[in-house]
Amino acid sequence: MTTNAENAASSDIVDIVQDPAIAEIRISEAQLQARVCELADALSADYAGKCPVLVGILRGSIMFLADLLRYLDMPLEIDFLAISSYVGRDSSGVVRLLKDLDRSITGKHVVLVEDIIDTGLTLNYVLRILRARAPASLEVCSLLDKPARRLVEQQIKYVGFHIPDVFVVGYGLDYNQRYRNLPFIGSLRMP
Ligand code: 5GP
Repeated sequence: MTTNAENAASSDIVDIVQDPAIAEIRISEAQLQARVCELADALSADYAGKCPVLVGILRGSIMFLADLLRYLDMPLEIDFLAISSYVGRDSSGVVRLLKDLDRSITGKHVVLVEDIIDTGLTLNYVLRILRARAPASLEVCSLLDKPARRLVEQQIKYVGFHIPDVFVVGYGLDYNQRYRNLPFIGSLRMP
């Protein structure tokens, strides 16, 4: 027997999936959860005994970071940066720091948690800022990697999924601030 809450949740998801703007589910909720769990296992092994600082980039990384945290059974800290670079589907090419970290990362082991690496310009900008603060180590953990449009190469140690050059939404990723609440990654049908 299903509860009212379960019925409500599943019918909400059906409504969203039937949103005519969603062309296709690219990565299902089950695939996301399984992969995030694997990434957490890798981080747990690599940072055993170290108390890393996980730095989430607002707002796209929120769901990924929240799920990652649930699977990480170790001492850690979290902090956030807010960056603006995109309006709609296309990069303005301008990256701006909207919110800085609340605490110092000097001498700490930092893992930058990103939603997606596309051209690599945002990552390049953020890594420059963080490296200047002399962390003990600095690695990148990105849910998605879209290498087709890369302009700046950076080493991304932890990657959830490599995807082709399609604009995706859901699981934290937006299109004009919508669709972040989808539990899966989908592609948009564009007019
Ligand atoms: P980059 O600087 O690597 O080109 O872009 C990184 C940022 O662009 C990501 O953090 C994300 O906010 C946005 N972005 C790049 N590709 C996509 C995409 O397919 N979907 C969405 N929603 N955002 C994207």
